[in-house]
Amino acid sequence: MREFLEAISVGASSEEIGAIPVPNSYRAAVVLASEQEMFEGISSSEKDPRKSLHVNEVPTPELAPDEVFVAVMASAINFNTVWTSIFEPLPTFGFLKRLGKESIWGKRHDLDYHVVGSDASGVVVKVGSAVRNWKPGDRVVVHCNYVDDQDHSAHNDSMLAANQRIWGFESNFGGLADLALVKANQLMPKPAHLSWEEAAVNALCNSTSYRMIVSKNGAGMKQGDIVLIWGASGGIGGYAVQYVLNGGGIPVGVVSSEEKAQLLREMGCAAVINRKEKDYKFWKDEFHQDESEWRRLGKDIRALVGDDPDIVFEHPGRSTFGASVFVAKRGGLIMTCAATSGYMIEYDNRHLWMKLKAIKSSHFANYKEAWEANALIASGAIQPIMSAVHDLDNVGEAAYQVHHNLHEGKIGVLCLAPKAGLGIDDPEFRAKVGEEKITRFMRHGA
Ligand code: NAP
Repeated sequence: MREFLEAISVGASSEEIGAIPVPNSYRAAVVLASEQEMFEGISSSEKDPRKSLHVNEVPTPELAPDEVFVAVMASAINFNTVWTSIFEPLPTFGFLKRLGKESIWGKRHDLDYHVVGSDASGVVVKVGSAVRNWKPGDRVVVHCNYVDDQDHSAHNDSMLAANQRIWGFESNFGGLADLALVKANQLMPKPAHLSWEEAAVNALCNSTSYRMIVSKNGAGMKQGDIVLIWGASGGIGGYAVQYVLNGGGIPVGVVSSEEKAQLLREMGCAAVINRKEKDYKFWKDEFHQDESEWRRLGKDIRALVGDDPDIVFEHPGRSTFGASVFVAKRGGLIMTCAATSGYMIEYDNRHLWMKLKAIKSSHFANYKEAWEANALIASGAIQPIMSAVHDLDNVGEAAYQVHHNLHEGKIGVLCLAPKAGLGIDDPEFRAKVGEEKITRFMRHGA
């Protein structure tokens, strides 16, 4: 891969990059099928990604006609890599097996190792025979919606496709590697004013929040809407806050420390709740919730913004869902895309139906939504929320940080990029957007 890196560094032409042979093997972060039972019998928090994520040399797969190889300059940690690395709720090898049964090309994915990672920025180095819109040398970011465009159900909204998958989680050959295998319909132009790692951290979380807040497939937020955002300085929350502010809504950000609260205020989110300080006890014990604690949260929200939330941006799951349903406004919407603290959810249905509230689910984003979200990053309207950068060799530690909520925003991972700060193609536009805005989370994380 060194030849590709040198060519990219000196700005080689498309023809020159296309003429470099793709190596037979490459460096990649993997989990191993032989280790999928290594954490049996221990608690989730003790399951350590530093033990299960390995950086190995793996064979390069064959390229299908509708695919490209991307020389990955940088990638990012997403929570799905945490799930994969602790083999929860299920080992991902079952997903690979299922994909393997779909077609000859799908069969390549069913291996005894799983190259993880669902984000990447880099350079296209080889395109399959059916690829029309991309060529070697194109600087790209990769979104993770992996769909079969020959499947009728993948049209209209591809997130409704019967065999929709998340690349690098439910498919192999992901982004935490020096080389990635992606479908051409996962590619988007790299925002020219960002470094490789700043460009790499956005696609998964930014597109998810765009669909949840902005898209008509999600909440379709309108001006003036009050939006309660759990984990407002986390991966999806940090973009959600920006979408609410840009769209004329009123975010109420919930975080767990004063530093995170300060970060939100700097972003322009005036209404902030420090859940640690408030010490809400929504659950009295394992089986019973405490409505008076839901009410206390509701009062705190009203004290800040004068009314109840029109929309609740929900993802912690079991620990907060009862409270989220309770505090939403009459006729309000609970948008959910995850259940970090537990997926067997309990809420009081009387508060839902009697007040005509609705629960709507969301999952990643279709190509159009991901493209629109990427365009907002490229225009400088939405900022990357990267707070730290690790080398690929340190990927276990990076995943550990996310597993234990020790981070803010997103953690970038350098793959082929030899150091941080490279890949900025439009410094003038960067200056116009503002270094301070682009690096806000990084300065906090430092
Ligand atoms: P993240 O960076 O770890 O941020 C999550 C935030 O949630 C944390 O910063 C934390 O903030 C807050 N939080 C964690 N546990 C909580 C609890 N018990 N109660 C209240 N707040 C809690 O993760 P992320 O990238 O934002 O992802 C969040 C979840 O969404 C994960 O489960 C992920 O798998 C999922 N996700 C789903 C999709 C999809 O397409 N369906 C896409 C992206 C992510 P404070 O400690 O500051 O409150």
